[in-house]
Formats: sequence, C-alpha cells, structure tokens
Amino acid sequence: MSSTLPPLANKLGGLRSSAIRDLLKLTARPDIIGLAGGLPDAELMPRERLAAAADAALSHRGCLQYTESAGWGPLREVLAARESTRIGREVPLAEVFVTHGSQQALSLLAEVLLDPGALVIVEDPAYVGALQVFRAAGARIVAVPLDRDGLRLDVLTDLLAKGERPAFVHTVSNFHNPGGVTMSAQRRRELAELAERHGFWVIEDDPYGELWFDSPAPEPVAAHSRNVIRLSSSSKIISPALRVGWMVAPDEVCRGVELLKQGADLCGSALTQQIAADLLADRVWLAAHVDTVRGAYGSRAKALVHAFREHLGHRANCTDAAGGMFVWADFTDGTDTQAVLPRALDNGVAYVPGAAFAVDTDYRNSMRMCFTTSDEATLTEAIVRLARAVG
Ligand code: PMP
Repeated sequence: MSSTLPPLANKLGGLRSSAIRDLLKLTARPDIIGLAGGLPDAELMPRERLAAAADAALSHRGCLQYTESAGWGPLREVLAARESTRIGREVPLAEVFVTHGSQQALSLLAEVLLDPGALVIVEDPAYVGALQVFRAAGARIVAVPLDRDGLRLDVLTDLLAKGERPAFVHTVSNFHNPGGVTMSAQRRRELAELAERHGFWVIEDDPYGELWFDSPAPEPVAAHSRNVIRLSSSSKIISPALRVGWMVAPDEVCRGVELLKQGADLCGSALTQQIAADLLADRVWLAAHVDTVRGAYGSRAKALVHAFREHLGHRANCTDAAGGMFVWADFTDGTDTQAVLPRALDNGVAYVPGAAFAVDTDYRNSMRMCFTTSDEATLTEAIVRLARAVG
C-alpha cells in the first residue's frame, strides 16, 4: 500500500496561516501583558442577560429547529429596524441576511462577487481575515494606503484612471482594524460616488462602529449608495460566541449569498440568533450595556495612548483612541518592530508587528496594540516594558 496521501487543492499552496494567530500561541504566557490579541473583554460580556435570553429561547421549540438560510425571522426584523435607523432609509427584510459572524459574510461574498483573477482593492494595512478570504478566492489584490481620514481616495482615483476595474473595494470604515482610523464623512460620500461612477461594489465592514468613545462615527458609506454592502456583527457589542453577524445588501446579492450559504452550512443557529434578537431588541438595556463597554474601552484606550506618548512620543506616533479596539503606532526612528518583538516578549509585553497586516507597504516600523483586555494600570505598565524593550 502506498503511504502517500492524495493531493490537496493547488490553491492551498498560496495561503498563509495568520501571523497573528501564530503569534498568539507564543504570547499566552501569564507573565506577558498581551496587546497582541484582538479579543473583546469577556468580563464585559453580559452573562446574566444572555442566560435569561437563552432560557427564554430554549422554551421555544422553533429555536431548536433548522431555520431559513437568510436567518431567523425575528432577528432579521430587529436587524432591519436597527439598520434602517443606521443607514437612514427603510431597509426591507429581503435586504437583510444573517451570517455566522461577519467573517462568513466576507467569505460568501468573495464567492458571489469574484471570478478567478478578479481585482479586489483592500486597505493597507488590511484586516487579515479579509485578506485570507480574498486570496483563497483567487482574487488579484491591490492595496490602497490609509491615512488619518481612512482610505486614500486620491490613490484609488489614480488606479481607476489607469483602467483598473475592481469587483469591490473592502473598507473597515470605523475604528479600523488594525489602523485605528475612521473614514471621514467627505470620503464616505466620495467613495460612494466613485463606486457608482465606475460600477464597483464597496464592502463596508463595520464591526466596531458602535464602540465610539467621545462622538459617534459619521453616517455609514451605505447611506450614500446602493452599491455598498454593509456588514455588521454582534461580536464586539455582545459576544463573538453567538456567531451572529449580518449583511445589508441589494436582494440580488442576498439571493446569491443564500445559494452559497445553503451549501456552506444550510443555515445558522436559530438558538443563538433568537438570543441575539432578544438582546438587540431590548433597546434600553442594550444602550446601557454598550455604554458600559464604551466607557471601559475608552478609558483603557486613553491610558494606553497617554502612556505611549509619554514614554515613546519622541520616537513614534500613535493614532488617537477614538473608538474600537486598536491603536496603531509608527516609529519614526527606524525601530524595526519585528526585530524588537523577541526583546519585548522577554520584557513581558506582546504586540503585533505591522508587517502582519502589510499588503504593499512593509510597515516594518509599525505595530498594532489592542487595549480591550487589561486595566489602565496594566496598560501603562505594558508601555513602560515596551519602552524598555525598544531601548
Ligand atoms: N471584520 C473585521 C474588520 C474584524 O476585525 C473582524 C473580527 N476580528 C471581523 C470582520 C469578523 O468578526 P465576526 O465574524 O466575529 O463578526
């Protein structure tokens, strides 16, 4: 008998494991203060409210059954109302589709919108989970850098002028992962106009929009054009364990996604979708809960940024802590963040080097720091250790 296993698909050869997941394996030591992970704080997840909703859901036999591929009806209704307010127009049920986290929406959309070799425009630095999906779909990926106001539309406009025709542009419009920035209101309008003029889709990937600290983010890009497919999620405001994300898109797109979702997993879980519906419909409770999360993350973020500027401000810039879960820093003195990482781990602090998110630019002098899971004093200590490590 032959000992060689049959081959796997060729496309696997081009895929890389996420550098962040690999790094997290290294940084799980208890003596290390983790700024590397991108996890919401489990201590802030509403366990009792979830338990009550789970109990109520379990008494409903429909929640134990398969459900529609597009999602559990009561959840889609809650989401349609919520998104109508957010987008500023009446969103019909046919345009709301529930996915297994917004990550599944990215993966299904890549199949629905991309033929092999199609062009996808991503941001640089990019959300790694999106890059993995678009690469697996065989897309040609071109990156457009971010600045303080989000995606650089001047660079995008040049690409379009050179005749590049993207199937879609992927953007994390609010409190970027990993870049920390938010797209300005003006750029949102202009991006929507470009999408209509040149006939491409925009995937507006927005899991962090609710997590603003001082003032809400501008209207979503989706408020300005029907070419925008808007993704959102319960992961960062309730719990990622529900695996409840959703998409608002024209019904043609939803019908395509539905065909693919039937093949992927038949349907999501009616049980966790009913739990999500219960919590999302309870507006007074939800507003207070999200406010608590914002308050906690906001003061952690401010402590991190304050300490960073105090200890490292003479050699690096970091983004303002306006919302979300991440701060991005650029060293201006040539510090190589990948090279410094082993010393940082020895000093008891972990971060993700910018190179992990790089598409075209190398970001060797940059790093992403996540502030969600430590208190203010621990975050300040993390920066003291980081300053010691960079020397
Ligand atoms: N998009 C972005 C930009 C993210 O940062 C994440 C989670 N890290 C996701 C999508 C996926 O989130 P989920 O599947 O939990 O909704």
